[in-house]
Amino acid sequence: MNSFSFIQVSVLAPNIPALYEMHFAVPMAGAVLNAINTRLDAPNIATILKHSEAKILFVDYEYLQVASEAINQLMSQFNQDSPSDKPMSLQSVIVINDLNSPYEVLLPGQLEYEELIIRAKPGFIPGDISDEWDPIALNYTSGTTAEPKGVVCSHRGAYLSTLSLLLGWNMGTEPVYLWSLPMFHCNGWTFTWGIAARGGTNVCIRNLTAQEMFQNIVLHDVTHMCCAPIVLNIILQANPQERPRLTKTVEVLTGGAPPPASMLHQIERLGFHVVHAYGLTEATGPALVCEWQEQWNQLPGNIQAEMKSRQGINILTLADVDVKNMDTMKSVPWDGKTMGEIVLRGSSIMKGYLKNDKANSEAFKDGWFVTGDMGVIHPDGYLEIKDRSKDVVISGGENISSVQVENALYKHPKILEASVVAMPHPKWGESPCAFVVLKKKDILDEETVTTSEIIDHCRKNLPHYMVPKQVVFLEELPKINTGKVLKFQLRAMARNIVTL
Ligand code: ADP
Repeated sequence: MNSFSFIQVSVLAPNIPALYEMHFAVPMAGAVLNAINTRLDAPNIATILKHSEAKILFVDYEYLQVASEAINQLMSQFNQDSPSDKPMSLQSVIVINDLNSPYEVLLPGQLEYEELIIRAKPGFIPGDISDEWDPIALNYTSGTTAEPKGVVCSHRGAYLSTLSLLLGWNMGTEPVYLWSLPMFHCNGWTFTWGIAARGGTNVCIRNLTAQEMFQNIVLHDVTHMCCAPIVLNIILQANPQERPRLTKTVEVLTGGAPPPASMLHQIERLGFHVVHAYGLTEATGPALVCEWQEQWNQLPGNIQAEMKSRQGINILTLADVDVKNMDTMKSVPWDGKTMGEIVLRGSSIMKGYLKNDKANSEAFKDGWFVTGDMGVIHPDGYLEIKDRSKDVVISGGENISSVQVENALYKHPKILEASVVAMPHPKWGESPCAFVVLKKKDILDEETVTTSEIIDHCRKNLPHYMVPKQVVFLEELPKINTGKVLKFQLRAMARNIVTL
């Protein structure tokens, strides 16, 4: 996936109508959409703009500051680079303003989104897609390395994923859909295209507070929403005054991180009906859905929630799925006990990672995409995730590369070694926990390096959601004789730590 001759259009925006429109406008203009995670900081945004070779950047007014920092960093990188390097690809920045924006007047030369639309040629006819495998979207995911991993999704993958989800979730015509899942998350799990396909109404909100969600659910008679389990938690933790009684059931598709059974049980009592899905950016969104079985209706509520907290089965064309022993590539028995790696294949699997040969060669084995998630298959064929072989922390549904956090820790002058693992967190599901070994000199000098000093250092070097919530000082890291850190031992230690 190194040759990529399409024009990339990046956008940095929350869930606003413009971002929804761009899911159609950009592919119809023959370009590829790259929606950037709005929680990233300037260095990470600059890395994405450079790696994707984006030609145009659309920025919502709320993100102008971070975007301009990123552009400055990008420009200085190009100034420093050798003259043989390609010139900077970014050519224009277009600001998305609205009535609440404080920026009435833009800088000279800056173009505004609505202005651009007004200038559009009437009667524009989109070109044909020459090949259904052509890319439609480029989505960056935090993988197991600090290198950018740009997942290239095809028109075919997006089309099949959208159709399968609509059928699998049994979404009727004219749904009223609340945007509680970021559209930058794998194109809103393809519902950006799906809601239009069903003639639905999109309810876009900027802030994911319980109050804003409930107000909009009631005001617009919302029928459907998708979200990570953290959002269900926000709803559950809300003040009862902010939580009006719902008169109609809201259908919720949740995934991106494991939803605890107890949470599913509680949320359904508030008038939400939850379907649990599992997926990855590399699978163009959900690949498994925990489809409900009629016979489960007889079970007590808490057991029903346990059935539902399993990741499920593949439905329709979503993806072919299996759990395999990666040494033998044999499927594990359906006994609910034998663990293996979850592997996927099929049309909705990505075309590959952009300009990352190493990641591409590691991602596939015998034609299967290796997810890095470990699971079992129950006798009824339902799959359940038990662990992860990949080195990521999933905090509030956002993937955090532990390597990226470790790299930031190593920039601290007093840190000799650092290793980061996931620790359980009551609000975020997981959060990064840093294990650090200080340089001998610093221990001998009896200089104190406090947890808050390390956390402050990380805040300066990482997007805030990636900052470790806990720092543990060790004399040495547990390692095998090749020097590899035994992360499973650190994970076991992290499970016993009281969260900040
Ligand atoms: P998403 O946008 O779905 O979060 P990512 O590519 O960012 O996609 O993250 C994918 C990873 O999130 C999976 O490999 C898995 O580790 C985790 N994940 C996604 N859905 C679930 C789920 N339902 N239960 C447990 N883990 C999940």
